[in-house]
Amino acid sequence: MIQTNVSSKSILAKLLASEDITVIHGADAPTASFDVKNRVLTLPCWTNMSNSLYDMLVGHEVSHALYTPNSDSDGWFQIEALAKSLDMPASTVKMYANIVEDARIERMIKSKFPGLPPRLHRLLSGSHGARSLRDCRHRHCRPPAD
Ligand SMILES: [Zn+2]
Repeated sequence: MIQTNVSSKSILAKLLASEDITVIHGADAPTASFDVKNRVLTLPCWTNMSNSLYDMLVGHEVSHALYTPNSDSDGWFQIEALAKSLDMPASTVKMYANIVEDARIERMIKSKFPGLPPRLHRLLSGSHGARSLRDCRHRHCRPPAD
C-alpha cells in the first residue's frame, strides 16, 4: 500500500505556488483541479496513488496557480462570448482552450522548476499507464493502473 503524506503535499503545493492557496485532498475528486478565481487546489485521493503521480498532479495544478489568468478581464473568462461568436458550444471551446492552456503552463513550470520535468516526463512516457496528463485530465479518467 502506498502512503502519501498529504500534509507535506499541501505544503509543497503552497511553496511551489508562492502563495497560501487552499489545498483540498478530496476522496471523491475525480481528478486534480485548480480553481483560479478562488485559489483552491483539489487533489484526488486515489487508491495506490504513487508519490510521482501525486507530485506531477501538484506540479501541473500549481502551474495553473502561477500562470493561468485569474481576472474577469482576461480572455480565459470570455469563453461564453467567444463560443457565441464562433457559433460553437461553450464546452467545446473550453475543451480546446484547456488543451492549449495546459501545454502553455506545463512549458512554463518546467522552465521555473527544472526538477519537475523528469517526473512529468516519466508520466508522459507512459510509466504510469497514461499517455499524457492531458489525456488523463480531459477524459476525466480514473487513475492509471500501476
Ligand atoms: Zn490543466
